[in-house]
Amino acid sequence: MNHPIVNAMSFDIEDWFHMVEIDAVADTGKWETFPSLVERYTDQILAQLAAHETRATFFMLGWIAERYPELVRRIAEAGHELGTHSYWHRRVDMLDPDSFAEDLRRSIDVIEQASSQRVRGFRAPSFSIRPGTEWAFDVMLDCGLEYDASLFPAPRGHGGYPSPRGMHRFTDVPSGRDIPELPMSVMRVGPAGLGFTGGGYLRFLPTWFVHRGIRRLNRRGMPAVVYLHPRDFAPDCPRVPMPLKRRFKCYVGLKTTTGKLDALLSSFPWAACETVLGLDSPSTEAAA
Ligand SMILES: [Zn+2]
Repeated sequence: MNHPIVNAMSFDIEDWFHMVEIDAVADTGKWETFPSLVERYTDQILAQLAAHETRATFFMLGWIAERYPELVRRIAEAGHELGTHSYWHRRVDMLDPDSFAEDLRRSIDVIEQASSQRVRGFRAPSFSIRPGTEWAFDVMLDCGLEYDASLFPAPRGHGGYPSPRGMHRFTDVPSGRDIPELPMSVMRVGPAGLGFTGGGYLRFLPTWFVHRGIRRLNRRGMPAVVYLHPRDFAPDCPRVPMPLKRRFKCYVGLKTTTGKLDALLSSFPWAACETVLGLDSPSTEAAA
């Protein structure tokens, strides 16, 4: 192939206690009292990316950006793209348009202030845009965002959306506008789809299996999208009570992530989401 497909490398920057629907960490008033992992492991991610001279997208939680503006600055100064992962890490499908707009604007403000960079992309907490939540795209466009990376084109616990598997323009926006969409990578397993390029999926699955899945996507002309969190790299992540299935997905393979990221960075070409979507030149997009 003359032009190898460039895949998207992305990180959702939140702390270990920003897990949705876990009672032990649900009280936002207690977040300040928990020990934090986010700076140490985000700096480790930055060092890994620098060693491989790879640019990535960091979808920042606004709550983190407000408390760690120096961290946001370090990410921006290393040349990476900053996107938003909302302010409070609430599921979008549990909000209404007004409360989502308020949350999203607040996150964009704090991230732009800390980074001196424009925020163009959004990833929903827990990929929580589902059928019926399409109004969220109008809110994004009204907030000045230029793309979304929230859809998970397979059924899952929170969210899941029957979208095309590759990047595309999302056209079912209620106002009639459209917006570039970079959905999460899934592989077909019979009639279902399986995530394999991020979070618990990537920590659990063997490297050869993940790489084979990426090569298959690339052969079909689709870039893979990798998403990881600082806590995915943290064997010292505090354990809190949760249902057995969640416990497995939260804590499996935490020691393997650093090596798996190195292997991915060595084996495939990567870029930030805006680059993969072809939005690098700000003048090329004037849809809103
Ligand atoms: Zn998240």
